Amino acid sequence: MMSSLLAVLAAAGLATGATAQAGTATTTVLTGGTIYDGSSPKPLVGDVVLRGDTIVYVGPSRKAPRGAHVVDARGMIVAPGFIDPHTHAGRFLGSTDAQVRLNLAWMMQGVTTIFTGVDGGGTPDVASFFDDLEARGFGLNVAAYVGFSPVRRAVLGDDARAPDDKELNAMKALVAKGMCEGAIGFSTGLFYAPQSFAKTGEVAALAAEAGKRGGIYDTHQRDEATYTIGIAKSVEEALEIGRDGHLPVHFAHIKVLGVDVQGQSGAIIELIDKARASGQVVTADQYPWDASGTSLQASLLPGWAQDGGREPMLARLEDPVTRAKIETEMRENLRRRGGAHALLLTDPGHEWTAMRLDEIAARWTLDPVAAAIRIIRDGDRSGKVVSFNMAEGDIATFMRQPWVVTSSDGSEGHPRMYATFPQKYAHYVKEAEVIDLATFINSSTGRTADMFGLTDRGHLKPGYKADVVVFDPARYRPVATYVQPRELTVGVESLFVNGRAAVLGSQPTGVAAGRAIRRSAPPGTCPG
Ligand SMILES: [Zn+2]
Repeated sequence: MMSSLLAVLAAAGLATGATAQAGTATTTVLTGGTIYDGSSPKPLVGDVVLRGDTIVYVGPSRKAPRGAHVVDARGMIVAPGFIDPHTHAGRFLGSTDAQVRLNLAWMMQGVTTIFTGVDGGGTPDVASFFDDLEARGFGLNVAAYVGFSPVRRAVLGDDARAPDDKELNAMKALVAKGMCEGAIGFSTGLFYAPQSFAKTGEVAALAAEAGKRGGIYDTHQRDEATYTIGIAKSVEEALEIGRDGHLPVHFAHIKVLGVDVQGQSGAIIELIDKARASGQVVTADQYPWDASGTSLQASLLPGWAQDGGREPMLARLEDPVTRAKIETEMRENLRRRGGAHALLLTDPGHEWTAMRLDEIAARWTLDPVAAAIRIIRDGDRSGKVVSFNMAEGDIATFMRQPWVVTSSDGSEGHPRMYATFPQKYAHYVKEAEVIDLATFINSSTGRTADMFGLTDRGHLKPGYKADVVVFDPARYRPVATYVQPRELTVGVESLFVNGRAAVLGSQPTGVAAGRAIRRSAPPGTCPG
């Protein structure tokens, strides 16, 4: 009778998973490695044992159980899989190609968990986002934000105006829906139109909906330079949103961008430390590169010129008087960014691909602003650029803060998508010695997990999920560069995601072991 019941369940696809987990959970022993557990300042040499999807032992080497899969990790670093809290991987996860959904660019760096929906981009339909992913399989664990952009667009389109009460309530309901469906928080990109059209109070009202449900406020802040209100006021605005919305504030890819603010990292840190000292929860992530990645449109065009979207923007560029006004502001924005040589054009398949803006302008015998407008008008999108605008001293100062963690901000056109973690290791640990190896690992694993409330990941401890990277400290390095950004990292020997080998012998296995990380809202804050 028991067996016939099992047969029925198996036929319905229900029993197989449970049976496999209970009966044949694989045991993997990573033996003899130098173990960094995600929070300790010093390593220990020994074994990490994984059973099923869970870590069951971390300590001195001992005899492997019979039938275990043994991986020789002698001479290797064994650490929790890296957590990347700011990625633009959403479009890869949405691919119909199973290979693309593995996210090899991240996987080969040793990343096991990524966050999507950042910069205000995340859909409020979090449940269907996760359901679709799970139906198709994917390589890395995924957490998702509900983002301001689709929320505001759904209610106000691309308009540069404030919502009325009814519209604000409609937006609040969308944020609440995303949170109740498992979002980790509410993200904004207040630098970008149409989000930039929102005043502080509007954002705080929406952030409060996430706060009520245990979420975090993650922001690509309004100004990282001197574009509008200036970076200091922009930091104050984010802190105010956190206080009014009663939720933690997390600064995405913290930096001081451009010639006007370089050298001001100390002043920004002071603002944040003061808020932290007063009891506010404030954190940040950072990518270890001196260039940001954005678009010509976002980096050079004034916000008002983008009001209403692409068609009205193109019309403004047609009108000689308006165009002259736009050009004047673009010239100033270009100066802020360090001039036309500081912008490297990265959209593939164009005449200007891999050229600096000053170079293509010279070829066209146009001034750089006119060349930029030509690219914005002709481009299918807005012209991806790598923008060299950060000073090494500021990067190092931010990196040393105990409330800063590693992120990639990974998207096509910038090596950070393929090589952020090895870049931090190779440049800031080994070469420049800004931080030590344990700090690199802790700020890429345990500190990140603790910051975002991932209670069962980010540490090598019994009972935690078996997300583990094994890398060769001598070989682990970035291969991608600004000019050739699409090169996979080398040096990760093996990688386990929920206990399953995603990389073995330095090769991806094709196993798609990623899971959706759904944040559950406190009781009574969601319908049902
Ligand atoms: Zn951003």
